[in-house]
Amino acid sequence: MDYKNTINHNCNIKCPKCNHTYSYDFKFEDSKKSTNKKRSVENSYEFLTYLICKNPLCNYDIEIKGEFIVNSSNAPDLIKITSIK
Ligand SMILES: [Zn+2]
Repeated sequence: MDYKNTINHNCNIKCPKCNHTYSYDFKFEDSKKSTNKKRSVENSYEFLTYLICKNPLCNYDIEIKGEFIVNSSNAPDLIKITSIK
């Protein structure tokens, strides 16, 4: 089962193109159940979202991948970014 709720997250992201770091507020939804078999963490989900770099001279389309787990009250926990490109 995918995780349908929208999740709001805030973190610093370094643009892979211009190397500037800014704080971003972003949302993602329809996260997929994690297929990472190495870690058999239950209720683990993966997400993919895109942000536009806040540097006005760059405006690069940053691809963000990450994962999170869902706690016993079905709330997202331990959100982390696994890939930025
Ligand atoms: Zn940039």
